[in-house]
Amino acid sequence: MKYIIVGAVAGGASTAARLRRLDEHAEIVIFEKGEYISYANCGLPYYIGDVIEDRNALFVQTAASFKQRFNIDVRTLSEVTSIDAESKTLKIKDQRSGLEYEELYDKLVLSPGAEPIRPPLPGINHEGIFTLRNVSDTDYIKSFVNKKNIKKAVVVGAGFIGLEMAENLVSLGMDVSVIEMANQILAPLDYPMAAIVQQHIRSKGVKLYLNSAVSSFSKTNNGLNVLMADGREIIADVVILSIGVKPDIKLASMAGLKIGNEKGIWVNNYLQTSNPDIYAVGDAIQFNNPITNHSMSTYLAGPANKQGRICANNLVLGNVQEYKGSINTAIVKVFDMTVAVTGSASKNLFKAGINHVVSTTHNGSHASYFPGSKQMSIQLNFSPEDGRLLGAQIAGYEGVDKRIDILSSIVKRNSSIYELTEFEHAYAPPYSSAKDPVNMAGFVAENILQDRLTIFYWDQLNSIGTEDILLDVRSSEEFKSGNISSAINIPIDELRDRWNELDQNKKIFIYCLGGLRGYLAQQVLKQNGFKIVSNLSGGYQIWNNCSKEMEQITAEASLPTS
Ligand code: FAD
Repeated sequence: MKYIIVGAVAGGASTAARLRRLDEHAEIVIFEKGEYISYANCGLPYYIGDVIEDRNALFVQTAASFKQRFNIDVRTLSEVTSIDAESKTLKIKDQRSGLEYEELYDKLVLSPGAEPIRPPLPGINHEGIFTLRNVSDTDYIKSFVNKKNIKKAVVVGAGFIGLEMAENLVSLGMDVSVIEMANQILAPLDYPMAAIVQQHIRSKGVKLYLNSAVSSFSKTNNGLNVLMADGREIIADVVILSIGVKPDIKLASMAGLKIGNEKGIWVNNYLQTSNPDIYAVGDAIQFNNPITNHSMSTYLAGPANKQGRICANNLVLGNVQEYKGSINTAIVKVFDMTVAVTGSASKNLFKAGINHVVSTTHNGSHASYFPGSKQMSIQLNFSPEDGRLLGAQIAGYEGVDKRIDILSSIVKRNSSIYELTEFEHAYAPPYSSAKDPVNMAGFVAENILQDRLTIFYWDQLNSIGTEDILLDVRSSEEFKSGNISSAINIPIDELRDRWNELDQNKKIFIYCLGGLRGYLAQQVLKQNGFKIVSNLSGGYQIWNNCSKEMEQITAEASLPTS
C-alpha cells in the first residue's frame, strides 16, 4: 500500500506517524511545499518576541529524523500542484530544481492547512507588512524587526494570533496598536468576557481600535501609513496582518472533491472526502459542530493532530473510527491573563436558534487566605431545559487552563451544569478552594434553573423603568467609589432591617460587585414578600467593564490618531 500525504505539519505529520505505527510495510511519502516539517506553529509568535530564544526548539522533527524514526519519505520544498483522482496521480514541483514529476498513490491524505486572508487593499504589498503562518514568515518578520529600528507596530486583527503578536511586540519594546473590525477582540468570546480582556490589554499600553477597518496602506517618510475606513491614520514601522485564515482548498477543488458550504473540504464521519481514496484532515476541512450542528472549519492544532490519528486508523483498518467534531476548545495568554473558551458562545447559539441561559461568576483561583489568589471570571452558556452545558469562557490568571479542560470535557460529553455542582476536584489552599470556581459556576447555574435565582444582564439595565428600583447592596464605601446611576444603596448587611424602605409592589433589580451578595439580597426580599426581584449576572464588575469599553470606543472614534 502506498500512502501519500500532502502537508507535513500538524495533521499531515500526525497521520504519517500513526500510519507507520499501524503498518510497518506500507510506503509512506509526505510532500511539503515549505522547507520545514512538523514544526511548532503555535510557538512562532513567542520566537519573534524572544520568549523562545532557540530557533531550533521550534522544530519537533526534521525530514531526516522522520525518515530515521518512522521510515517515511519526507520531501520538503515539494509542492503538489495537481491531483488526477481518476488515475490516482499527483504532479509535484520540486522547488529546488524547478522540475515537475508525477507520483502514484493508493490512498491520499490532504492536510494543506489554511491560508492567511490578505485582502486586496491598496498598498498591502509594501515592505514591512507581514502575515504569520509558517517559519519563513517568522524569519522575515524577525529579521525585519531586528534589522530596522522598529518602534511602532500595528497588528490588524485581534484574534488569538493577533493578540499573541501584540504582546510579543510589546515585549520587544514597541508601541503597539491593534485594529479590529468587530466591536470586540477574540471572536469566540461573548462581549462581557471580551471587555474584561480589552481592559487588561489597554492597561498594558496597547492601543485598541475596535469597530475599525483598515482601508489602505501607503509609504511615507515616517513609515507606513495605515488608513482606516473612518479616516483615522496610524504611522507604523511594521504591520502584522492577522485578519484570519481560510481553508486551503486549491488542490481539493482541482481534483473535483466536494467543497462544503463553509468553503472547507467536505469529509464524512471517517474523514473521507467525496473520493473514497482521498482523506483530509486539519484546518482545510469542514465538519459539523456537535453543538450547533452547523458545518465549520476549526483552526486549531489539537483537532488537526487528533484527526490525523483517526484518519490513519481508518485508512489502515477500514473506516473503524468516527470523528465526532471539535467543540473549539482554545486558550490564549494575553500578557499576564489567560483566556480560554470551549463550546459555543452565546452569540453563536443565538444565531443557531439554540435557546440558552448565560450565567457569569467570579471566584478566586485558589483559597483567598493563601497568598496569590486572583480572580477568575467564568461564563457558562447552558440549556434551560436540561442544563446541558453548551459553552464556557474563562478570563483569569492562574488555573484557567485546568478549569477550561474540566468544562470542555463536560461540553464534549453532552453533560450538564448539574455535573459541575458535584465535580470532585483536588483541593489544597494553593490550588483551589473547597468549592472550586467550576463548582461555584455550577451552583449558580443550578440556582437559576431551579428558580432560586432570577437574573438580568448588564445590557438590560437601560430598559429598567423609572418606576422600578435599582438596588445596590454593596457597602456604602463601594457605592461611593462608583455606582450605576439611579441606583439606591442598602448594603446587604443592613437589608434585613431596612427592606421595608422598599415598595413591595415594584420590580427590584439588585446588583453587587460579582453577584453573590445580590443573590443573598434576593433571598431576603423574596422571603419577605417581594414578588419581582432579579440580580445582575456577573454584577457591577461586568457592567463596569462593558460600559467603560462602550464609552472608550465612542470617545476614541472622535480622537485624532498618529
Ligand atoms: P498546517 O499545520 O498549517 O500544515 C499544512 C502544511 O501543508 C503547510 O506546511 C503547507 O506548507 C503544506 N502545504 C499546503 N499546500 C501544499 C501543497 N500543495 N503541497 C505541499 N505542501 C502543501 N492552534 C492551537 O490549537 N493553539 C495555538 O496556540 C496555535 N497557535 C498558532 C500560532 C500561529 C502563528 C499559527 C500560524 C497557527 C497557530 N495555531 C494554533 C493553529 C494550528 O497551528 C493549526 O490549526 C494547525 O497547524 C493545522 O494543521 P494542518 O495540518 O491542517 O495545517
